[in-house]
Amino acid sequence: MPSGTVTETADAPTLILGGGLMGLSIAHQLARRGHAVQVISRRRREAAGFVAAGMLAPHAEGLSGDLLRLGQASLERIPSWVAQIEADSGLTCGLRTSGIVVPFQTDAERAAYPTAALGKTLNRTQLEQEIPELGNTWRVGLLFEQDGQIDNRRRLMRALERACVSLGVQFLEGAEVQALQTDARGALTGIALNTAEGDQQLLCCSSAVVCSGAWSQRLVPELPVVPVKGQMLSLQGPREALKRVIFGPGTYLVPREDGLVVVGATSEREAGFQEGLTPDGQKQLQRGIESLLPIAAGWPPMERWWGFRPCTPDEGPLLGVGPHPGLWLACGHHRNGVLLAALTAELTANAISGKSPNSAEKDLLEAFRWDRFSNR
Ligand SMILES: Cc1cc2nc3c(=O)[nH]c(=O)nc-3n(C[C@H](O)[C@H](O)[C@H](O)COP(=O)(O)OP(=O)(O)OC[C@H]3O[C@@H](n4cnc5c(N)ncnc54)[C@H](O)[C@@H]3O)c2cc1C
Repeated sequence: MPSGTVTETADAPTLILGGGLMGLSIAHQLARRGHAVQVISRRRREAAGFVAAGMLAPHAEGLSGDLLRLGQASLERIPSWVAQIEADSGLTCGLRTSGIVVPFQTDAERAAYPTAALGKTLNRTQLEQEIPELGNTWRVGLLFEQDGQIDNRRRLMRALERACVSLGVQFLEGAEVQALQTDARGALTGIALNTAEGDQQLLCCSSAVVCSGAWSQRLVPELPVVPVKGQMLSLQGPREALKRVIFGPGTYLVPREDGLVVVGATSEREAGFQEGLTPDGQKQLQRGIESLLPIAAGWPPMERWWGFRPCTPDEGPLLGVGPHPGLWLACGHHRNGVLLAALTAELTANAISGKSPNSAEKDLLEAFRWDRFSNR
């Protein structure tokens, strides 16, 4: 394709700006509703969807208010959402309702936890039954049996990609969206991009979804989304050695079915988009392992990686209509994007399809409008 080409088709597809977790989830739901969809994806492996621990944890994360309601509504939808992805892809996603244990050193800390009333209180003996070999500083805990996990890094992302391809979603891999094009009214008319070959292209469109994760503000400066870097590692434990997720302060351990334990995560706001592992970050995780499950410090390390959470001022996502007619938003999911992907995809695909939200969905869309931080 020569430089400066304008591409226009009679039935222009909905453009998905970013092929990470939200982009794939929304493309999949739109394709299921019969829409033509094109995903523009700069760098597949930089997506936080491949980085996350995959906890489905509105309760263990201690969410509150609208974000808790959003998380609970999404958690409810996850089994049927995963069933659709598995049916369309022929691949499994590694969904486990493993339950999550949050340990505390004192009962006062347990009682003050925002979601304490929604979990089961565990004394030290019960904690040891749930987590054999738990570090001895942890005296009480909360068990959230309703929370779980999904193997996003090894399974879910791949299954979503396969499901999209099987439903006819088109991909522009290695292409970077440079700018939005709008008309005199501010309505979306197209996007300018650089292709993988280095050519510039203008794609005409009347509908696009910002799914650019931590990089969303670079594309739409009005969006208050900043990166929060997270470093991770994994250990190979004996199968079934750890059955529940342990969600400690600053470190969590997430056991997959085959014994792999995903350990996360640092939370580094000051790092910006600085790539790479750091000795301090990795030491923090190591200290967390030794405190939560000392025996795991002897399990062989498998992999180390990092990525960027897309964070907003209140740590909730930006959903629904964007600052330009025709531009939809699905970004800013910070540390709960895997949990929130099911509901985000459904709400966004319904809105683009012209399906009216019910009153609960309408309330949630209102609560997570992009302009909620300014005085409207
Ligand atoms: C360390 C860590 C641990 C986490 N753990 C959990 C967890 O346990 N549970 C949970 O629910 N969530 C977790 N999350 C959060 C979750 O991963 C994110 O909220 C979610 O992946 C965000 O999805 P996204 O599609 O918005 O962004 P991403 O998955 O990051 O995808 C964005 C994509 O957009 C592309 N892109 C950006 N700009 C452009 C452009 N201009 N043109 C083209 N493409 C572009 C990027 O290349 C990228 O592929 C974690 C995140 C991190 C970093």
